[in-house]
Amino acid sequence: MFREAARVSEVASGNNAEAILVNLSSLNFFNNLRADPKNKQFAVIGLGRFGRAVAATLHRQGYDVLCIDSDENKVAQVLADRLATHARQLDSTSPAALKEGGIFEQDTVIVAIGNYVQESIITTLNVKEGGVPHVVAKASSEIHMKLLKKVGADHVVFPEHEMGCTLARSLTRPGILERFELDPENSVVEVLVPESFVGKTIAELRLRSSYGLNVLAVSQDGKFEINPPPSKQLEQGAAIVVIGSNQSIERLPV
Ligand code: ATP
Repeated sequence: MFREAARVSEVASGNNAEAILVNLSSLNFFNNLRADPKNKQFAVIGLGRFGRAVAATLHRQGYDVLCIDSDENKVAQVLADRLATHARQLDSTSPAALKEGGIFEQDTVIVAIGNYVQESIITTLNVKEGGVPHVVAKASSEIHMKLLKKVGADHVVFPEHEMGCTLARSLTRPGILERFELDPENSVVEVLVPESFVGKTIAELRLRSSYGLNVLAVSQDGKFEINPPPSKQLEQGAAIVVIGSNQSIERLPV
């Protein structure tokens, strides 16, 4: 139910201050993106698996996507697979090539070059210096992430790390279907109704006083009831969306 893109980026060291900074800058990035009504044109630089997935999803949603790669086969493939509106072969480490290719006129540029750190950093720097307002870059390590921020990336994603954290959480708490971390200590989660809660009403469970959690919604068969009344009885197979501290969430029965 939550926007994948808004997932919190944690730093592997678990340094809280750093994690908060990352979260706040992500929040600013998405707020700025939302506040920009003309944000319609996207360019994806780097057509590996990640870049192709980003381009294909944007294109499928009807957005104008310009794809760039230095490898002409990747460019031809993206056009053959109809994943983009336009695709060009160019070396993104060259500011002149980027200008010529029309990259600086895009609203949002995704630098999807994870495995070539030097090229990724130079490209991100070039795109920011060229005046692109929203630049997202993919990192492949923690140091890469820091460098991308230093050269001006507005938002950095580190998919392998983020997916690893998500998987570990799912393995230890399979009942948690979705998690949106508000900050390192507090989250909103969608959790399957635990066995011991089935047949009880929200009032009977006293989630606020016993667990410190507030119920925001109850979902069943893909439909959400927002602000359910205290008399709402929880059924087998339903899920509840709760807000609270991670500590409180961990105390919920499985
Ligand atoms: P994966 O495919 O494993 O998910 P990824 O999405 O991070 O990884 P990379 O292996 O980093 O992808 O490759 C991204 C693409 O970037 C490659 O297709 C490569 O040709 C392209 N690329 C690398 N350097 C440049 C450059 N200077 N200019 C344009 N494209 C480049």
